[in-house]
Amino acid sequence: LRPEVLQLPDVVQDVSTLLKRLIGEKVKLSVAHDRDLGAVRADPSQLEQVIVNLVVNARDAVLAKGEIGGGKITLATRRVTAADVRAMRSAIMPQVDYTALVVEDTGTGIAPDYLGKIFEPFFTTKEQGKGTGLGLSTVYGIVKQSGGFIFADSEVGKGTKFTVYLPVHHASP
Ligand code: ADP
Ligand code: MG
Repeated sequence: LRPEVLQLPDVVQDVSTLLKRLIGEKVKLSVAHDRDLGAVRADPSQLEQVIVNLVVNARDAVLAKGEIGGGKITLATRRVTAADVRAMRSAIMPQVDYTALVVEDTGTGIAPDYLGKIFEPFFTTKEQGKGTGLGLSTVYGIVKQSGGFIFADSEVGKGTKFTVYLPVHHASP
């Protein structure tokens, strides 16, 4: 594990060629970054894994829905204050600001019964050989280890939004 002080948009940029190849022609990807994001402190290759896993799942969900016109994935980074997080997620009591990574898709969505299980190792709804069920448990572990947290919001038939919150890293003087 080699933590570095990073800007999330740079990490997104570093995997953008890979993402385009994984997504293919049928699914549209749009990327948007807030200005004045805080830096984060994490292992860059682990953050790449987080982004790739979330985007591959989004692609699978969009393709599984099989919409004419293809569907869409949105990848965004946002500056989120501690107060914002408290307002949105009453279960947690953040003390610091966060940089959020949002991966949103117009895919199948996740049934409410499954939403509590998706971060468990080996939980998959994919056919034999198509999914290991390890992607999101890996993502969860990396996010926790980086001092952050992750949420999934989903509506069946409409799509899914994963939000990863990573604490803003302030350089020590
Ligand atoms: P795998 O992709 O190998 O199935 P993951 O841990 O990455 O394993 O995901 C676990 C399960 O969570 C998936 O099988 C799927 O049911 C659900 N899932 C994850 N991401 C999405 C998404 N964006 N849209 C719909 N379902 C999802
Ligand atoms: Mg996966």
